[in-house]
Amino acid sequence: MTQTDDRTPQTPGAIQGHAPADLAGMIACPRCDAVFRAIEPAPNQRAICTRCHHVLIAPRRRAGKRIIAVSMSVLILLVAASAYPFLSIATTGLSNSSSILDAALAFTSDGLLAALSFVLAGLIVFIPAARAVLSIYVLAPLVLDRDAFPGAPFAFRLSEHLRPWSMAEIFAIGCAVALIKVADLATVSFGPAFWMFALLVLLVVVQDNLACRYSIWKALGE
Ligand SMILES: [Zn+2]
Repeated sequence: MTQTDDRTPQTPGAIQGHAPADLAGMIACPRCDAVFRAIEPAPNQRAICTRCHHVLIAPRRRAGKRIIAVSMSVLILLVAASAYPFLSIATTGLSNSSSILDAALAFTSDGLLAALSFVLAGLIVFIPAARAVLSIYVLAPLVLDRDAFPGAPFAFRLSEHLRPWSMAEIFAIGCAVALIKVADLATVSFGPAFWMFALLVLLVVVQDNLACRYSIWKALGE
C-alpha cells in the first residue's frame, strides 16, 4: 500500500521565507525536487512522491540487521572473489587464468594505463567493500539500541556519495559481453570467483533496496 493521500506536493518556492526550523519535518524528492511534509508510513508500507512516484520513505522491519548481514556477505565474497581465479582461457594448448585483481591491475607497468587500472580496481572491488564497511559502522550500534558511533552521519553521507561509483554490476555485464566475443576464438571457463561475483552483484542490489535513507537519517538524529 502506498501512502500518498496525506501528502500535498509543494514547490520549493512555496516554502521560501520560512525559518530553517520549519524545514525539519519536510522531505524533498531526490528525483523531481517536490517538497512534502514527511509522515512516516507503517513498517513495510511506502510513501511515494505524488509527482514522479519515486519511493521517498520505505521503512522495513529488521532492515538494519539484514543490511548488516548482507554487507558482511559482500565483504566475504569480495575478499574470496579477489583471491580465486575469475576465468580461464585456453586455446591451441596454451591456457591462462586470472583473478579480478589480476585483470584490473594488468596494466600497472604503463603510466596512464596504470592510473586507469587502479581506478578500475577501486570501482569494482574497493568502493563496494568501503560501502559495506561504512554500512556496518553506521547500522551496528543502531540495531543494538546504542548511541551511533562518532562520525556516523559523515560515514553514511560518504556511503551515499560512493553509491554511483560502485560499479561491480557494470563490470559483470562488460565481462559477459567480452566472453561472448572471445568464445569462438578460445575455450573460456568460469572460475569460482565468477560465481561469487555474480552472487555479489545481486547482494549489492539487495543491500541498496533494503536501506531506507529517511529512516537511517532519522535514527542518526539528523
Ligand atoms: Zn518526485
